[in-house]
Amino acid sequence: MIQIIETPEEQMVVDLYNKLGGASKMLTTLANIYAKAAIQPDGRTNRMFIEIAETLNEVGKVIALDETTSETIEDIARRLTEQGYRRGAPSPHAESVDRVICAGSTCSECGHVGLDYVPFYKSNSYRSFMACPKCDYVAEI
Ligand SMILES: [Zn+2]
Repeated sequence: MIQIIETPEEQMVVDLYNKLGGASKMLTTLANIYAKAAIQPDGRTNRMFIEIAETLNEVGKVIALDETTSETIEDIARRLTEQGYRRGAPSPHAESVDRVICAGSTCSECGHVGLDYVPFYKSNSYRSFMACPKCDYVAEI
Protein backbone atom coordinates (compact mmCIF):
# COMPACT_ATOMS: atom_id res chain seq x y z
CA MET A 1 0.00 0.00 0.00
CA ILE A 2 1.18 3.53 -0.77
CA GLN A 3 1.87 5.45 2.45
CA ILE A 4 3.06 8.89 1.28
CA ILE A 5 0.33 10.92 -0.41
CA GLU A 6 1.18 14.44 -1.53
CA THR A 7 -1.34 15.38 -4.22
CA PRO A 8 -5.10 14.93 -4.76
CA GLU A 9 -4.25 12.86 -7.86
CA GLU A 10 -2.19 10.45 -5.77
CA GLN A 11 -5.04 10.23 -3.26
CA MET A 12 -7.45 9.38 -6.12
CA VAL A 13 -5.22 6.52 -7.29
CA VAL A 14 -4.87 5.18 -3.74
CA ASP A 15 -8.66 5.40 -3.21
CA LEU A 16 -9.31 3.54 -6.47
CA TYR A 17 -6.69 0.90 -5.65
CA ASN A 18 -8.23 0.34 -2.19
CA LYS A 19 -11.78 0.33 -3.58
CA LEU A 20 -10.90 -2.37 -6.11
CA GLY A 21 -9.00 -4.37 -3.48
CA GLY A 22 -5.48 -4.14 -4.91
CA ALA A 23 -3.64 -4.34 -8.20
CA SER A 24 -4.31 -8.06 -8.69
CA LYS A 25 -8.04 -7.37 -8.24
CA MET A 26 -7.87 -4.61 -10.86
CA LEU A 27 -6.26 -7.06 -13.29
CA THR A 28 -8.87 -9.74 -12.55
CA THR A 29 -11.61 -7.17 -13.18
CA LEU A 30 -10.03 -6.30 -16.55
CA ALA A 31 -9.66 -10.00 -17.37
CA ASN A 32 -13.38 -10.47 -16.65
CA ILE A 33 -14.24 -7.61 -19.01
CA TYR A 34 -12.13 -9.13 -21.82
CA ALA A 35 -13.55 -12.61 -21.19
CA LYS A 36 -17.09 -11.25 -21.54
CA ALA A 37 -16.19 -9.18 -24.61
CA ALA A 38 -14.64 -12.25 -26.25
CA ILE A 39 -18.06 -13.80 -26.80
CA GLN A 40 -19.36 -12.27 -30.00
CA PRO A 41 -23.04 -11.73 -30.91
CA ASP A 42 -22.93 -14.70 -33.34
CA GLY A 43 -21.81 -16.96 -30.47
CA ARG A 44 -18.23 -17.39 -31.66
CA THR A 45 -15.30 -16.37 -29.45
CA ASN A 46 -12.61 -13.82 -30.18
CA ARG A 47 -9.28 -15.67 -29.64
CA MET A 48 -7.30 -12.46 -29.08
CA PHE A 49 -9.61 -11.30 -26.27
CA ILE A 50 -9.43 -14.74 -24.62
CA GLU A 51 -5.63 -14.58 -24.75
CA ILE A 52 -5.62 -11.07 -23.25
CA ALA A 53 -7.93 -12.26 -20.44
CA GLU A 54 -5.66 -15.25 -19.73
CA THR A 55 -2.56 -13.03 -19.65
CA LEU A 56 -4.21 -10.54 -17.28
CA ASN A 57 -5.20 -13.42 -14.97
CA GLU A 58 -1.63 -14.77 -14.99
CA VAL A 59 -0.11 -11.36 -14.16
CA GLY A 60 -2.76 -10.86 -11.48
CA LYS A 61 -1.82 -14.18 -9.86
CA VAL A 62 1.85 -13.15 -9.67
CA ILE A 63 0.99 -9.77 -8.14
CA ALA A 64 -1.41 -11.43 -5.68
CA LEU A 65 1.58 -13.19 -4.12
CA ASP A 66 2.98 -9.76 -3.13
CA GLU A 67 -0.33 -8.83 -1.52
CA THR A 68 -0.14 -11.70 0.95
CA THR A 69 -1.44 -10.79 4.39
CA SER A 70 -0.42 -12.03 7.83
CA GLU A 71 -4.10 -12.36 8.79
CA THR A 72 -5.77 -15.77 8.77
CA ILE A 73 -8.89 -16.26 6.65
CA GLU A 74 -10.92 -16.24 9.91
CA ASP A 75 -9.41 -12.82 10.82
CA ILE A 76 -10.30 -11.50 7.36
CA ALA A 77 -13.84 -12.90 7.53
CA ARG A 78 -14.37 -11.26 10.94
CA ARG A 79 -12.98 -7.90 9.77
CA LEU A 80 -15.00 -7.85 6.52
CA THR A 81 -18.20 -8.93 8.31
CA GLU A 82 -17.73 -5.95 10.65
CA GLN A 83 -17.43 -3.78 7.52
CA GLY A 84 -20.80 -5.06 6.25
CA TYR A 85 -19.57 -7.75 3.83
CA ARG A 86 -21.38 -11.05 3.39
CA ARG A 87 -19.98 -14.39 2.21
CA GLY A 88 -20.48 -15.04 -1.48
CA ALA A 89 -19.78 -13.70 -4.96
CA PRO A 90 -21.78 -10.98 -6.73
CA SER A 91 -22.31 -13.11 -9.87
CA PRO A 92 -21.85 -16.71 -11.09
CA HIS A 93 -19.35 -15.39 -13.67
CA ALA A 94 -17.11 -13.76 -11.06
CA GLU A 95 -17.33 -16.91 -8.97
CA SER A 96 -16.41 -19.28 -11.81
CA VAL A 97 -13.41 -17.17 -12.90
CA ASP A 98 -12.01 -16.91 -9.37
CA ARG A 99 -12.70 -20.57 -8.61
CA VAL A 100 -10.56 -21.55 -11.60
CA ILE A 101 -7.74 -19.26 -10.42
CA CYS A 102 -7.87 -20.80 -6.91
CA ALA A 103 -8.02 -24.38 -8.16
CA GLY A 104 -4.90 -23.80 -10.26
CA SER A 105 -2.92 -21.93 -7.61
CA THR A 106 -0.09 -23.26 -5.48
CA CYS A 107 0.39 -22.29 -1.83
CA SER A 108 3.57 -20.22 -1.58
CA GLU A 109 4.07 -21.36 2.05
CA CYS A 110 3.67 -25.14 1.89
CA GLY A 111 3.39 -25.90 -1.84
CA HIS A 112 -0.10 -27.40 -1.67
CA VAL A 113 -1.84 -27.23 -5.06
CA GLY A 114 -5.50 -26.18 -5.15
CA LEU A 115 -6.52 -23.36 -2.81
CA ASP A 116 -9.95 -22.69 -1.31
CA TYR A 117 -12.01 -19.91 -2.87
CA VAL A 118 -13.40 -17.56 -0.19
CA PRO A 119 -15.53 -14.70 -1.60
CA PHE A 120 -17.13 -11.69 0.15
CA TYR A 121 -19.30 -8.92 -1.22
CA LYS A 122 -21.35 -5.89 -0.27
CA SER A 123 -23.29 -3.53 -2.59
CA ASN A 124 -20.74 -2.82 -5.37
CA SER A 125 -17.65 -4.21 -3.66
CA TYR A 126 -16.33 -7.73 -4.25
CA ARG A 127 -13.29 -9.14 -2.48
CA SER A 128 -12.14 -12.70 -2.90
CA PHE A 129 -9.37 -14.67 -1.28
CA MET A 130 -7.51 -17.89 -1.87
CA ALA A 131 -6.85 -19.82 1.32
CA CYS A 132 -4.66 -22.89 1.71
CA PRO A 133 -6.56 -25.86 3.19
CA LYS A 134 -3.27 -27.27 4.62
CA CYS A 135 -1.76 -24.19 6.31
CA ASP A 136 -2.65 -20.56 7.25
CA TYR A 137 -1.61 -19.06 3.91
CA VAL A 138 -4.13 -16.62 2.45
CA ALA A 139 -3.93 -14.09 -0.40
CA GLU A 140 -6.38 -11.72 -2.02
CA ILE A 141 -7.13 -12.53 -5.64
ZN1 LIG B 1 -0.22 -24.00 2.46
